Amino acid sequence: MSKNLPVTGGCQCGKIRYAMHTEPQNAHVCHCRMCQRATGGLFAALAGAPKDRLKWTKGAPTFFASSNLATRGFCPDCGTPLTFAFNDPEARIYVTIGSLDNPELAAVTCQYGVEGKLSFVNFCEDLPKERTGEAEGQEEFFKSLKSNQYMD
Ligand SMILES: [Zn+2]
Ligand SMILES: [Zn+2]
Repeated sequence: MSKNLPVTGGCQCGKIRYAMHTEPQNAHVCHCRMCQRATGGLFAALAGAPKDRLKWTKGAPTFFASSNLATRGFCPDCGTPLTFAFNDPEARIYVTIGSLDNPELAAVTCQYGVEGKLSFVNFCEDLPKERTGEAEGQEEFFKSLKSNQYMD
């Protein structure tokens, strides 16, 4: 086990803290429109763990079901986006890389949702890219997605 474990983080006001009892997995950015809206940023930057390896050590987030397939956790007091997870219990829960105490522990290795990548975002161009639903077996899954986000 690495001396870095657990990997800790939390929201900007400090009322919510977490500990990941694993190395951050599948660190990525997602450029999809839903991640832009959910974070208020140009993309989401996320690092994952098996759901049972992420423990809330202080407080707990509020969760918004951004679609029928996934929820996103945030601090209800300060608004920091904290998590993303598909509802499948076997799926990883992801934390926002910027909420880690040491974001250097979660170097981004791939880019998802590139169909939503903004024209002026030039970022990690050398990393593998994937469109939403492009991966093996994911097309049907994403066809069933019903967004709960406001989109105008
Ligand atoms: Zn907070
Ligand atoms: Zn996304």
